[in-house]
Amino acid sequence: MKPLQVWSPVKLTYVEVPPQDAPVVEALDKAWADIAKLDKRIPEHVGWYLTGGRSTSCAQLSWDTDQVVLRINLQTRPDANSEPVNRTGEDLVTWLAHVAAHAVVAEEPPAGGEGRYHNPVFRDAARELGLDVEKGTTGWSSIELGPSLERRLRPDIKALNKALAAWKPEIGPRRNQRGPWSLRCACTPPRTIVTPSGNALKGRLTCGICRSDFKIDLSTVPPDRRDDVPPRMLWHPQS
Ligand SMILES: [Zn+2]
Ligand SMILES: [Zn+2]
Repeated sequence: MKPLQVWSPVKLTYVEVPPQDAPVVEALDKAWADIAKLDKRIPEHVGWYLTGGRSTSCAQLSWDTDQVVLRINLQTRPDANSEPVNRTGEDLVTWLAHVAAHAVVAEEPPAGGEGRYHNPVFRDAARELGLDVEKGTTGWSSIELGPSLERRLRPDIKALNKALAAWKPEIGPRRNQRGPWSLRCACTPPRTIVTPSGNALKGRLTCGICRSDFKIDLSTVPPDRRDDVPPRMLWHPQS
């Protein structure tokens, strides 16, 4: 059996799962494998990036890679002022099945009508998987497990609930929170500039030598700010 792996945005690679996350990742892998059996267009394996920030939104999904990484937030706030609590197995499995429906229609030409990502083509594919789909705020975006899919995935829901009952987020270092971030350009070796996070995120900063934009070195960004960095602004080490 291959060691459980999760995506590390710092190293831009897969790393071994920290022990405290292993039961959750195992349950996610199993749930995804069961969902992938519903349609051959759903990739059998995906990578996980557990985050305290937002989950991958439908608009960010890309399936034209052999390393699909799903960013998944395991917590939610019941309301704006309350402390975050762990999401339920049903909530997570519903999200996974929703994401899988996007994989099914990834090759389809976009259909007309309202809701770019939740158009009628998506709706039909999601219903085909066994999801109940109704109109929501962005097209056909109100998505629940249908009764027979819920029965089929119930063991996965239970396994996730069990794993989540014992799961706590790791509290990352916060010392860099307000500190400056490093940005690098495409020169060899890259030139480095250091600038406050607000300035780094404000817009393009271009190197006068290589004419490329400075990109943000994620290793200098504290974990709880990483979701704020758009992928196009990320610097990738060339080594
Ligand atoms: Zn969606
Ligand atoms: Zn340069």
